[in-house]
Amino acid sequence: MLLLRAVASSFPSFQNTHARRIPLKKRLATLSSSSSSSKMETTTKTIESDGTQTPLKIVQLPALSDNYVFLLHCANTKSTAVIDTPEVGPILRELKKRNWQLTHILNTHWHSDHTGGNLELKKEFPEVQIIGPRGEKAKTPGAEKIPGVDRKVEQDDVVFVGDVKLHVMDVPGHTLGHCAYYSPSANSAFVGDCVFAMGCGRVFEGTHPQMFASITKIMSLPETTKLYCAHEYTLANIKFAKSVDGQNEALLERERKCKALREKNEPTVPTTVGEEKKTNPFCRSGDEKIRKFLGMEEKRDVEVFAQLRTMKDNF
Ligand SMILES: [Zn+2]
Repeated sequence: MLLLRAVASSFPSFQNTHARRIPLKKRLATLSSSSSSSKMETTTKTIESDGTQTPLKIVQLPALSDNYVFLLHCANTKSTAVIDTPEVGPILRELKKRNWQLTHILNTHWHSDHTGGNLELKKEFPEVQIIGPRGEKAKTPGAEKIPGVDRKVEQDDVVFVGDVKLHVMDVPGHTLGHCAYYSPSANSAFVGDCVFAMGCGRVFEGTHPQMFASITKIMSLPETTKLYCAHEYTLANIKFAKSVDGQNEALLERERKCKALREKNEPTVPTTVGEEKKTNPFCRSGDEKIRKFLGMEEKRDVEVFAQLRTMKDNF
């Protein structure tokens, strides 16, 4: 409940539409009834405060060697967004197959495996609005780090894809402007290269304290929140996680599940906040066993995190 309150205070509308008016039991029942991602497609139907249903369809596509792309479709309005654009082919094929028109591109950060398809998609869909984080600043005045960006967003801004409301969360560290998009009604967050299943993004531009704060912010969302990470790095991440937290039963159990999924070429994404808290060392710097293993019992959580991230860089 403390966590819920922490999130509710950062998202006033979440507090209004969810925490107060819909009993917790009912919300959990709604969430658990949404289908799993085994077919790389989920439909989430959530009852909003005014009693209407807002259907959001999320379609997950593999792209490049290990990226994921997510299509968000609002069935009420037919608005369709894509989270990041690593390559155009799979996105266009899926849109065509479903007869969806792209209305929004939501970029999480400037790296080309997240924005490389922006301009080509804008040619195909001239009306598309490209939305990206304000914090991704180009060095040259007038230049843009996010190709074709129409709207720059920052912490607490709201983006609507049709009837679906997404809250912008600034989560710098991997890049200086990295953001995530969080939909309370879909119980989902699109976290780019900030948090991965049992891992986290490399700290390329920001500092370890920045990245630690960003991960902590995502971990403050409700435990059932689905985290849509931008890469399939899970099996490699497990190897590192085991090297520092090898006695963790939940981690070993998850390894078995993830290996079985990957053998069938199925995704291990999305994950959830709750799963990561149990198994992701970068979300567990307060864990006594990990601290003991590192000989860092007396250190602050952020220092333990920095040590783990440095070890992973050299793993
Ligand atoms: Zn990146």
